[in-house]
Amino acid sequence: MIKVVKFGGSSVANSTQFRKVKSIIDADPDRRFIVTSACGKESHEDHKITDLLFLCEAHIRYGVSHEQIFGLIKDKYYRIKKDLGLHVDLDKEFSVIEKQLKRGISIDYLVSRGEYLTALCLAEYLDADFADAADVIAFRFDGEIDLQRTDEKLKSISATERKIVIPGFYGALPNGVIRIMSRGGSDITGSVIANVIDADVYENWTDVSGFLVADPRIIDSPMRIPRITYNELRGMSYMGANVLHDDAVFPVRSKNIPINIRNTNDPDNPGTMILNDCSEYDAIEPPHAVTGITGRKDFTVITLVKSHSSAEVGFLRRILSVFEEYHVSVESVPVTVDTFSVIVQTSAVEHCVYEIMSRLKKEFNPDDLKMEERLALIAVVGRGMKAVPGMSGRLLSEFGRSQINIKTISQSSDELTIVVGVENRDFEKAIQCIYDKFIAEDSR
Ligand code: ASP
Repeated sequence: MIKVVKFGGSSVANSTQFRKVKSIIDADPDRRFIVTSACGKESHEDHKITDLLFLCEAHIRYGVSHEQIFGLIKDKYYRIKKDLGLHVDLDKEFSVIEKQLKRGISIDYLVSRGEYLTALCLAEYLDADFADAADVIAFRFDGEIDLQRTDEKLKSISATERKIVIPGFYGALPNGVIRIMSRGGSDITGSVIANVIDADVYENWTDVSGFLVADPRIIDSPMRIPRITYNELRGMSYMGANVLHDDAVFPVRSKNIPINIRNTNDPDNPGTMILNDCSEYDAIEPPHAVTGITGRKDFTVITLVKSHSSAEVGFLRRILSVFEEYHVSVESVPVTVDTFSVIVQTSAVEHCVYEIMSRLKKEFNPDDLKMEERLALIAVVGRGMKAVPGMSGRLLSEFGRSQINIKTISQSSDELTIVVGVENRDFEKAIQCIYDKFIAEDSR
């Protein structure tokens, strides 16, 4: 069995966290490929190394002295080195970076040094080999990762059985120039490594014990989601908090490799397993009807009513093309006979909503055209809903009992997600109601 393990910034924020990482690695010899983020925040007041590096670059660009910020970065690594009794030659590493700084450094090179230095320290501490991501992760010139070349490169340096530590978040273009990924990109590095070595599992270690059924700021101690499919996860991330970089799913999904979200501060917690298909596990332990509930406030609904327009070919497309012209992405389009509602994020239309309204009025001469703000959308996601008749009905009657007015409701035809729109002020109450009836009650 081979496991790829990725540690996020909070897992390597200081020497205490490094020690936790070591005991996780030592606990399982299958954890051979280790990817790390740059040191994250130790406390609320602290700064992520990556943020400091971006700040350094901005100072250099504007001709402001960067020494003080660079000093903070150095302090962090010297402290880790001292606390853990490492021998890594930080003087040499920093003098290389400083020399490059004087020559006019590329932002990608500078920012990648966070992961690079963290991985150097971690490799020594774990008694593992260090592999520079510039020699492993191969980008094409178009910015896409070249899996085949990455595979060849990794094979050429990982012939032994020793553990390897690889910095996340960056790789190199075919000409050797360093290129960084988008923020949080170490998740992608881990996923790419898992793909090319055909890992059995990709463990993503962070500071939460996987995904929770609902937002803990709304629900008191919500349950953990033990297993979730990639499709369900997509439905959850549609509106909710992100534990995992969106693009980290694709490399492992294509090979059906499960991702296991784990907590470095609570290593015994099994976390959440993300699988392509959970049916094997579901046959043994059937899932709840609802896997998770997410949502967001502050949507705007624009509703256009025009008699006999439903039969008109292309009518809906023409309405949507107005939104497209203003580069507004549409969240949902509830349609009934002759009535077309378009739901968008309020922040996305703030600057152009009146222009859109006047365009719609001019172009369609509607019988009625109205706009409503302060709508919240709640997505109820669950592969288990498919098997349960009357889910939407139950949802509607629970809302009725709790005096929550439903403004819109839609269900995808794969029966995986029901999206309800309620007024902003009913948002928390609605989530609590769904949690109580479909999760808490279900598990009693
Ligand atoms: N260090 C980078 C960031 O803060 C990448 C990562 O942590 O995945 O975005």
